[in-house]
Amino acid sequence: MLITDTHCHLDFPELSEQLAETLTACTEQGVHRIIIPSISPKNWQSVLALSSLAIAHESPNLYSALGIHPWFLNDAKQSDDSYSIKALDKLLTLNRSQVVAVGEAGIDGKIALEQDNMPDQIDVFEQQLQLAVNHDLPIIVHHRRSHPEVLSCIKQYRVPRGGIIHAFSGSYQQATQYIDLGFKLGIGATITYERAQKTIKAVRRLPLESLVLETDAPAMPLSGFQGEPNHPKQLSNVLAALSAIREETEAEIAYQTERNVDQVFFSG
Ligand SMILES: [Zn+2]
Repeated sequence: MLITDTHCHLDFPELSEQLAETLTACTEQGVHRIIIPSISPKNWQSVLALSSLAIAHESPNLYSALGIHPWFLNDAKQSDDSYSIKALDKLLTLNRSQVVAVGEAGIDGKIALEQDNMPDQIDVFEQQLQLAVNHDLPIIVHHRRSHPEVLSCIKQYRVPRGGIIHAFSGSYQQATQYIDLGFKLGIGATITYERAQKTIKAVRRLPLESLVLETDAPAMPLSGFQGEPNHPKQLSNVLAALSAIREETEAEIAYQTERNVDQVFFSG
């Protein structure tokens, strides 16, 4: 069974310092494609470098997404108080063959409270939605305590290619609002935690055509692996967990989620 990790921070030292071993372990688990989102101008080049690496042919194919994560707005701030959107625009044009999405971008309600920066978060997210429209790319969306704000932004900037609601957690009703706007939901470690009953109930009922698999490694370890850095090879355990809460077999889920990945990232 072949599966795609649609969200892995492969450039973070926990994974990149043993890149060859990391990728071999992925291949052994059927992970044949990895999408590497970036977080700020500080890692755009390292993410691009990874996706342009010529690696042994049995290794997973690596693709990048370029964007500004709401936690790292300060890293993107320019002296004129703009947020590196022009530089991002340029890199998206220059690296068209490796870049499969804008992201990760989005809104974090917890950080907005701590840093009092909701208007700036919304502004930077909206500018990246516009870049996704202009470059005919999907967008990878971070959310936390921000469903109303995220929904209102993506309603305003209809991205024709849609995108992924990364690490979806929320209700069935929230999920269907994203799906109706052309987005798919990133399913990862959340569903392995007993306490995430609302999300588990939602994910159980949603159409399989709206789901993709992800790890967010090295972040978000699965239940039972807390305290360890997460690893993209764990994607096979995410697949198993998803199959355990749904009616389809692992093979059926792998097959359909691969079609979903093709549709979002590789149909442009
Ligand atoms: Zn992430």
